[in-house]
Amino acid sequence: MRRQVLVLGLLLAFNLAVLASWRALTAAPQAAAAAPAVVAPASTAPGALSIPDTTLAINSTTPMSQRVVHYEIDAKYDAAKHTVDATEVLTYHNLTGQALDRFPFHLYQNAFQPKATFVREAKLTGSRDSRYQKWEDKLYGSEEIKSLEVVGQGDLTKGLHYLAPDDGNKDDKTVAEIQLPKPIAPGAFVQFKIAFHDQMPETQARSGWKRDFLLGGQWFPKVGVWWHGKWNCHQYHATTEFFADFGVFDVKLTVPQYEVIGASGVQVSSVDNSDGTKTVTYHGDDIHDFAWTVSPRYKVREAVYQSQMGPIQLRFLMQPAHWSQAARHEKITRDTLDRFERWYGPYPYKSLTVVDPEPDSAAGGMEYPTFITGETSWFAPDGLHLVELVVEHEFGHQYWYGMVATNEFEDAWMDEGINSYTEVKVMDSILGQGTSILKMAGATVGEREGQRLSYTSAADLDAMAQNAYDYYSSGSYAGITYGKTASVLLTLEGIIGEDTMQKAMHAYFLKYRFTHPVKEDFLKTIEEVSGRDLRWYFNQAVYGSQVMDYEVSRIESIPVNWYEDKKDRKKDKKAEDDTVYESSVWLRRKQDFVMPVEVEIKFSNGEKVRERWDGQSRWTRFAYQKKAKVTSAELDPDHTIQIDRNDFNNSFVVEPNPKPTQKLSTYWLFVTQWIGQALAWWAV
Ligand SMILES: [Zn+2]
Repeated sequence: MRRQVLVLGLLLAFNLAVLASWRALTAAPQAAAAAPAVVAPASTAPGALSIPDTTLAINSTTPMSQRVVHYEIDAKYDAAKHTVDATEVLTYHNLTGQALDRFPFHLYQNAFQPKATFVREAKLTGSRDSRYQKWEDKLYGSEEIKSLEVVGQGDLTKGLHYLAPDDGNKDDKTVAEIQLPKPIAPGAFVQFKIAFHDQMPETQARSGWKRDFLLGGQWFPKVGVWWHGKWNCHQYHATTEFFADFGVFDVKLTVPQYEVIGASGVQVSSVDNSDGTKTVTYHGDDIHDFAWTVSPRYKVREAVYQSQMGPIQLRFLMQPAHWSQAARHEKITRDTLDRFERWYGPYPYKSLTVVDPEPDSAAGGMEYPTFITGETSWFAPDGLHLVELVVEHEFGHQYWYGMVATNEFEDAWMDEGINSYTEVKVMDSILGQGTSILKMAGATVGEREGQRLSYTSAADLDAMAQNAYDYYSSGSYAGITYGKTASVLLTLEGIIGEDTMQKAMHAYFLKYRFTHPVKEDFLKTIEEVSGRDLRWYFNQAVYGSQVMDYEVSRIESIPVNWYEDKKDRKKDKKAEDDTVYESSVWLRRKQDFVMPVEVEIKFSNGEKVRERWDGQSRWTRFAYQKKAKVTSAELDPDHTIQIDRNDFNNSFVVEPNPKPTQKLSTYWLFVTQWIGQALAWWAV
């Protein structure tokens, strides 16, 4: 899922443009030295990264995943009522190693009801959609199991009951469970025959209808995941996404003939029926969810991309008003596919559908297997890269969610955050570091600074490693899950090296694709590839909520022979040149995040010295005796640290008069915090 970037982008553009002109007017030395860290030490140009050569061990004819589930769904959509009536045959392969007699199912559409946990939480702590100031009937969604039969065990519909494992909310119907009279033996299959009825709501949380458009997301009863010795089947929360087992999908969708349709997987057939409908059949292998969309107005652009594993059918379903942006959608898709395949691993599927959803539909910026929604508007100048940002982000989820299928309820940072990190890498590579969000009318904004700002507003509220539904607010969820994770991983590049980080990401993808890895799988991969013990960093950055703020707090230079007559020394150039100064630079660690830092100290004779401080104490002092004064000091001179909450105090220039700088500093802090707040609020 993608933050609501349009508003953000404009906000950033405006403020950064203001800031740029302010800077030009008040160009004080300290201001220049304290410019936000946007210069990377190493190139991210294609080919600049060293990636181990790997044999592509997968091909499309053999299963890539364990295929625990096989869904065969036959669904009919009533476009006037926005309802779905369907039958679902779910074949579940019991690979848990033990007998199972209890099966929980997600019924996500039931989240859109006034007493449901999703709506309750959205009202309390904010939501990605903020739709619930006033309840309206059109917001109502439901997913009702009409009947449930277990093959060989008969009709068990009456035994279905709702569960609320997370909050005990008796009115939440997003999880239902069935107890089987006869347990399913280890290694055996069980088949569920389900009839269900959906009332789709007006779009919320990337699901539902808007005018005559529909995004069919989270629309069918989906079994939970047996994970680490028990069922994992969370309720639907305001800030959570999903978790499901890999398998095979065979889905028949019957819709009016006038609809243009798109879906996960590959289209197998399309048959016109005599009643004015058509039945379109899709097949998907090794995916864990299935989404679809219809609108009578889509204009379709088709293309083929030659991936490492063969041709991919690209399909762009565009709003007619955005048709002129279709080529732009295709270009960013191709460029992104290129980076992901070369840096992380192959895209093994045969299709990718990119949907430009109905305007104002709350359906933009969403990922499903082989199916993503972008987000744009009629106003999309080339220099404002929001189309690119959303498409890149959602495509990235084909890897971090689609294939590396982490538990989005419990480890949201592992999909949204890792994806935000690769978003920075890919966007910088395609559109230039420092200009990857905006390059227009003299104003520039880069991805990494955007991620850092999103983080800084929520820096001390939560840790990355916690349940997605346990955050202080939706703003904190967004700032930490997206912005902090990206910033923490970018900072890690400065610790282990960009190339090593690249190798670790590559290794992680290859090892854990088509599985459900946990936090330690990712963190240990980085430690193994880098050969470094990084617990000191992970404990603070991933498991902790420690905040970093380092400061150059003071610089003093006094003549060693200060007691001699000053006037004489000033008059006499030689005496001035011969003066030996006792200089000191003080550094402070103002918060609780401890990390080694470098500082570059400059002297009046042009000399530069680099020092390293372990940051263990609250402050330190570097002292020198030289025939020169200290003129400036800059912490993190290579700008590798992205998690220092206030990087404006990272440098200190002795002269001239620092007053204008002070003002600028205050302004910058204000803008930073304001944008950060806005980013966090709008995020998700
Ligand atoms: Zn996302």
